[in-house]
Amino acid sequence: MSESIYVGVDLGGTSIKVGICNQEGQLLLTHEGPTETEKGVHIVVDNIVKYVHEIVEKSPYDWDQLVGVGAGVAGFTNVVEGIIILAPNIGFRDVPIRSLLEERLGKPVKIDNDANVAALGEVWSGAGRGVDNCICYTLGTGVGGGIILNGKIYQGFSGLAGEIGHVSVVPDLEAIQCGCGKKGCLETVSSATGIIRMANDAVARGDRTTLATVENMNAKEVFDAAKAGDEVAVRIVNRAAFYLGKSMAIVAAVLNPEVFIVGGGVSYAGDILFNEVREVYAKLTPDPLQRGVSILPALLGNNAGVVGAAGLHLRS
Ligand code: ZN
Repeated sequence: MSESIYVGVDLGGTSIKVGICNQEGQLLLTHEGPTETEKGVHIVVDNIVKYVHEIVEKSPYDWDQLVGVGAGVAGFTNVVEGIIILAPNIGFRDVPIRSLLEERLGKPVKIDNDANVAALGEVWSGAGRGVDNCICYTLGTGVGGGIILNGKIYQGFSGLAGEIGHVSVVPDLEAIQCGCGKKGCLETVSSATGIIRMANDAVARGDRTTLATVENMNAKEVFDAAKAGDEVAVRIVNRAAFYLGKSMAIVAAVLNPEVFIVGGGVSYAGDILFNEVREVYAKLTPDPLQRGVSILPALLGNNAGVVGAAGLHLRS
């Protein structure tokens, strides 16, 4: 077999996931093991090297067919120098991960942050397959974003492009403090955290809702209540969808993407969220900027990170 393969690494705080992709972005095999952040940088690097070797060994491919390794990490990265500047979940600060891995693996290594690689994964072989201009949202604890322009990750002046969660969309009188230190960010209303907060506020206010009986509320319970017709839950979901759609209208006018992809836990809400987002987008966006534009759920789920990381050698 002479087929080229690429290994993607999703470096998380608890586990490291690795995956093999072919040059079309097809995910062929995955493998996973503990990160062991508590043991320090060198053990984490050892673990990455070990899992990369293990996955190639258990695959039908030879080490020689491996063209390169890519890694996605939650945190601030210097893509040009190959350095993880700050990744609190992994306990990394100023770690020259690229050179450490290249030395150990003897293969070219590229890195990027998790939101960017997830976006790349989705355009390489997910919901945005074949699309060159695309914005990818990840709605989880926070709101992450990745921008793909002309088929490649757009980094911006200092590598911070795509921080869509911190676009200020909520009007002053309703705005609350965001983790970034500013007020009114998208993340305060359209993340799982924001949705849960709005639900808890409604219950605390005494609004009539089935959510009042739920303990330790999560976002899925809010969506389930909305689907069952609970008016308070519907209002909360619509509010999260409204600001998401509003942010897309803003982004559309600046970058004119063909597709918006929405992934992360909140996206599993499905139609109840997407229908409203599409309606708001249509209401706020000039007609020419709506033509041919789609708002789609992500397809790769938890594999977007490994697929996109593998794709860094071909698409960045
Ligand atoms: Zn913010």
